[in-house]
Amino acid sequence: NTLNLNDPTLLESRAYINGEWRSRDSRFAVTNPATGAVITQVTDSTIADVQEAIDAAYVAQKDWAEWTGKERAAVLRKWFDLMIEAQDDLGTILCAEMGKPLAEAKGEIAYGASFIEWFAEEAKRVYGDTIPGHQRDKRIVVLKQPVGVVGAITPWNFPNAMIARKVAPALAAGCSFVVRPAELTPLSAIAMAVLAERAGVPAGVFSVLPNSNSRGTGEEMCANPKVAKITFTGSTRVGQILMRQGADTIKKMSLELGGNAPFIVFDDADLDAAVEGAMIAKFRNNGQTCVCANRIYVQSGVYEAFSEKLAAAIAKLTPGNGMDEGVTTGPLINEGAVAKVEEHLADATAKGARVLVGGKRLGGTFFEPTLLTDVPTSALVSKEETFGPIAPLIKFETEEEVIALANDSEFGLAGYFYANDLSRVWRVAERMETGMIGVNTGLISTEVAPFGGVKQSGLGREGSKYGMDDYLELKYVCLGLS
Ligand code: ADP
Repeated sequence: NTLNLNDPTLLESRAYINGEWRSRDSRFAVTNPATGAVITQVTDSTIADVQEAIDAAYVAQKDWAEWTGKERAAVLRKWFDLMIEAQDDLGTILCAEMGKPLAEAKGEIAYGASFIEWFAEEAKRVYGDTIPGHQRDKRIVVLKQPVGVVGAITPWNFPNAMIARKVAPALAAGCSFVVRPAELTPLSAIAMAVLAERAGVPAGVFSVLPNSNSRGTGEEMCANPKVAKITFTGSTRVGQILMRQGADTIKKMSLELGGNAPFIVFDDADLDAAVEGAMIAKFRNNGQTCVCANRIYVQSGVYEAFSEKLAAAIAKLTPGNGMDEGVTTGPLINEGAVAKVEEHLADATAKGARVLVGGKRLGGTFFEPTLLTDVPTSALVSKEETFGPIAPLIKFETEEEVIALANDSEFGLAGYFYANDLSRVWRVAERMETGMIGVNTGLISTEVAPFGGVKQSGLGREGSKYGMDDYLELKYVCLGLS
């Protein structure tokens, strides 16, 4: 029991297929990014395993869909309760495999669980529709039915919540679900299966297949005719691959892809609130979320004052092992992530940006929380998702100018701005080309609101009453009276 868990059985390293725990001789190591230490070796599921899980899901879904909404709700509710009871252990596992500070990791468990609670409630409210007939002897009803088997591929940055956000509406709707978690963070996913089994989720309805073969798994899920839908969170590049692969079988797709969030501070903003919001939007998860502020635009009148305040706040951050008390930012996930941060930093400084705080690599994959000022709009940091702890400040003069800058991106996931003039707030919110906007707040994620992007940031919405639609089909029934 290396992690000192209250319930050591939550640290499971086998695959969960059709209600059975399967191990294979072939395994891969899961390491702690803060220390480099191997936590455990996990079963490397094969493509045959993926096929078996899909076959089982196809059979199990037919029965699961027959359950009443209330019956499915009861199982989901139980799963939610078990997750909350195990919050400390699940947080510890998540912190160990992903690196975010323990308090943030436990927060993710509560956030992930909240989707299961929410969609347990929604399971009972999948209302169809009746439409007045178009002829005297016609009656029209619209049914909502589950799409069927869902194949999911999820990322490492929220090892619990990115699965919970998908599996909860899927199961609530009466779909079955096969997930391949990121190979860097499979342990949180497998722990969810341990609790799903205890909660009474029927065999085959939820299978978890850790493996090192993401490409092969994606190909199988996309090509397999028994899979009705793919749900994916990750990069736009992989989203494009999945969409192409899914074309032959006309897979339904929910894609939550890359972002490049603008964060705008206008002259009339409350600067202290803007600093607080920027700290959350930029440094939460060490900059490794798809809704992280990537480009911070500050109007010239408040530029100096804002940068001084932000510099003071950033200087207070404490990078370190997420298990340690007082640590605010963990390591980056791996060497590749550090390389990207270093590339963005070198590019910005070469183009004239100055480092106000931080700027250096620490040991391992740790990187100093960094503030860059005088960043030109031509810098890579203002075009690509950095996914790391660099806050680049870009000065602007007018509202017109900054909206053009903010919208000059193929991405459109989240955007943030701070302003108090009511007309400006409305104008900017309407004109920003993103799926989500935080006005005078840096934290927008919640199970009660629709999360998702426009442009190349994706398709579909997760959370809220709308989140259910992604897992339902409409069926129009026309009854001719005799
Ligand atoms: P990131 O690692 O930046 O979150 P990726 O899109 O690379 O974004 O990874 C998201 C998930 O997609 C991970 O689980 C990864 O293993 C998986 N993945 C990577 N390449 C492919 C692929 N060709 N087909 C299917 N899944 C993939």
